[in-house]
Amino acid sequence: MTSQSENFYARWRAKNCAANFLRDENFPTERLLQAIWQHQRVLRNELKTADGKTVRIFHPGFASVEGGPDFRNAVIQIGDDAPKSGDVEIDLQSSGWRAHGHDKNPNFKNVLLHVVWEETKSSANAPTILSLQNVLVAPIAELSLSLENESLRALPEHFRGKCCAPLRELDEAKTIELLQQAARVRFENKAAQMRARAKNVGWEQTLWENLFRALGYKHNVWPMQNLAEQMQFSASLRLRGENAFEIQARLLGISGLLPDQLTRAQKFTDNYLRRIWDFWWRERDGFSEIVLPRAVWKFHGLRPANHPQRRLALASHWLANENFISKVETWSAKEIPDRKLLASLHEILNVERDEFWSWHWTFNSARFKEPQPLLGDARVTDLAVNVILPWLWIRACEGKNEKLQREIEHRFFSWPAAEDNSILKLARQRLLGTANAKIFKTASAQQCLMQIVRDFCEHSNAVCEHCPFPELVRDWKM
Ligand code: SF4
Repeated sequence: MTSQSENFYARWRAKNCAANFLRDENFPTERLLQAIWQHQRVLRNELKTADGKTVRIFHPGFASVEGGPDFRNAVIQIGDDAPKSGDVEIDLQSSGWRAHGHDKNPNFKNVLLHVVWEETKSSANAPTILSLQNVLVAPIAELSLSLENESLRALPEHFRGKCCAPLRELDEAKTIELLQQAARVRFENKAAQMRARAKNVGWEQTLWENLFRALGYKHNVWPMQNLAEQMQFSASLRLRGENAFEIQARLLGISGLLPDQLTRAQKFTDNYLRRIWDFWWRERDGFSEIVLPRAVWKFHGLRPANHPQRRLALASHWLANENFISKVETWSAKEIPDRKLLASLHEILNVERDEFWSWHWTFNSARFKEPQPLLGDARVTDLAVNVILPWLWIRACEGKNEKLQREIEHRFFSWPAAEDNSILKLARQRLLGTANAKIFKTASAQQCLMQIVRDFCEHSNAVCEHCPFPELVRDWKM
């Protein structure tokens, strides 16, 4: 291998690129400052705030992938204060705090440190400022060359969790056993919560409430659950033998998501809205006490396919099908090869066609050229591992049906992996030292990681303070 000093191309690149950077008036970029911060390429003993206080960085935080401040959960000590956990925002200039509207954005209320390149006039009530301009470990152009290919999503090795080393020392069989036990805890906890709820509202209503929760995805879990609790499905809609359109009108009306104005631009949508209102008009007064305010729904960062209006439309078809629950029960007792589990449940949950929602993401979106499914494989997996399997399992336990219990457990542990998410991405890097999503082939392995995050990471901080998990793993090895 040639050393950097002997490599003509490397020297040529360093010289030319550095010159280009320095000519570029957009240099440094915010992206580069973020990479410098993430890799802590700063003179850590010389960090001082604009007003002269010492800053100690115990952990730079985790790069945010979902908007809000650039780094979450950093551990920082400012002056004589005790170290604190909080967020870090990176901007080129300190004036960016106001200019970018962070001062009015509640997502930025936990920002401890505003890291900037250049200090300009700061605004009142802005967080403590730390300028990087004079505290870099190397010239900025040189850092740019070494960091340009570093992904902000890759956690630097030295910021991994304290459990990463002991987990890596476990042999494969021990690791699998540990993962399965954590996943089992998660599964049984969900089932136990369902049993407790069923004592008050019955098994069917419990299933509906949990299905609605899952349809809320992560943004709208609570309004969806609230809606299902208010509706008391098993005792109302389904006994009246209403069709999917009528149930849809009622769900949309009660959810508070029904627009009270026509679009005046989309004929098909306006026709649908008129018909929905014709039905909801007559019902509105009877449900006025349980109508949800629109403000309880979150739309920011929501994919169109996950919009709650579309999810309610899907649920209306399930509710209109009087055999829906018995089909789910029959599915649990049928012999199905592992490779067909997902497809077989998808078939039951699938809705062939909705006259409006198969053709639109929302009330305002244009009509699709081709109809789009109301449910994808990722959501079926989510519904299976979080709702349907735990619900079937706890009922089998209550009915002392051991054979069925074992079969459902088998399905849970064989279910193919779900869609990746930001919690799993970070947990894989902190706990297992890998960004590779493919190491998890089953949904239960992902569930296990979520459980460890909930039980341990959420009770500690980015430097794993007081976390007993590494010790437990070491003991587990014995
Ligand atoms: S908080 Fe605990 S479980 Fe989480 S990464 Fe750190 S040591 Fe591991």
